[in-house]
Amino acid sequence: MSVAPRTDGVLVDRYGRVARDLRVSLTDKCNLRCTYCMPAEGLPWLAGPELLTDAEIVRLVRLAVERLGVTEVRFTGGEPLIRAGLVDIVASVAAVEPRPRISLTTNGIGLDRLAPALRTAGLDRVNVSLDTLDPARFTQLTRRPRLDAVLAGLAGAAAAGLNPVKINSVLMRGVNEDEAPALLRFAVDHGYQLRIIEQMPLDAQHGWDRSTMVTAEEILAALRTQFDLSPDPTERGAAPAETWLVDGGPARVGVIASVTRPFCGDCDRTRLTADGQVRACLFATEESDLRAALRGGADDEELARRWRTAMWGKRAGHGIDDPTFLQPARPMSAIGG
Ligand code: SAM
Ligand code: SF4
Repeated sequence: MSVAPRTDGVLVDRYGRVARDLRVSLTDKCNLRCTYCMPAEGLPWLAGPELLTDAEIVRLVRLAVERLGVTEVRFTGGEPLIRAGLVDIVASVAAVEPRPRISLTTNGIGLDRLAPALRTAGLDRVNVSLDTLDPARFTQLTRRPRLDAVLAGLAGAAAAGLNPVKINSVLMRGVNEDEAPALLRFAVDHGYQLRIIEQMPLDAQHGWDRSTMVTAEEILAALRTQFDLSPDPTERGAAPAETWLVDGGPARVGVIASVTRPFCGDCDRTRLTADGQVRACLFATEESDLRAALRGGADDEELARRWRTAMWGKRAGHGIDDPTFLQPARPMSAIGG
């Protein structure tokens, strides 16, 4: 293997992994305050001039697709639906050749209203985060009484054809850990695909505790009390979720065991924050400032070179279980989950 970053072509790292899946955070702000993500009072948000403009985002995504081999683009945040230019950004990215697949990770609030326009603009798929079906728990967990809005968003996404609609759930001990079977029943009944994610040390409050985290093993055991889960014959590839057929299929359920069964060896992600920093990993402690380069007049070739260099330095794994693990300074909401 070569010892220096490549000066052309795809985003490869020193371990031979190739990043084809770009996660773009459109804002660090959010209209919910999920306890595992943000404190009640919110965070010191990025100032307007610090955010990439719509045109800057489209330029960077275009060069990632045209010059760096990116084939999947996922918009996230913060809450991406609160970014005013979202529909136009999606339309511009859908016009890039070769057309990338375009998806969105959202809390679903307002998606019922926006889904048709997003679909028309070129959005292919959506993941909606929903951790509980109980209105009181939802309010406790997200600190906002918006369960109905999220359920309407899910229905709106399916009606607009943004299929398969996936649900992302995080379980927390003593809060909603008993809800895995109910969430799966709800998903199966509505034709949504449930994926349950192990909670990660990415909260701004640094409240994560490995010893109280609900593990993939526990999640699967809880699901098996009410469902038959059999191995999914489809190829997993670089997908973070390990999937099972529910009661023989075709319904599926996924578990994302980022902590107990890390999938770093197959990771194909590269990340762009709302203020234009490239991150090689959710847990990276280094970033590469594309915004300064872009605003300083760098051409596409120079931006591509910087992006390749940033990815070359990607670490082999996130190291959560390593005693020297350091939680990144940016919380999940400012990285883009
Ligand atoms: N606001 C959007 C949403 O909630 O889907 C997009 C951003 S959010 C940071 C992306 C995903 O990260 C959500 O599914 C959320 O549940 C998940 N998430 C946030 N904090 C997490 C944590 N500490 N551990 C695991 N997943 C987390
Ligand atoms: Fe907002 Fe998503 Fe974080 Fe919840 S997980 S506070 S919806 S960014």
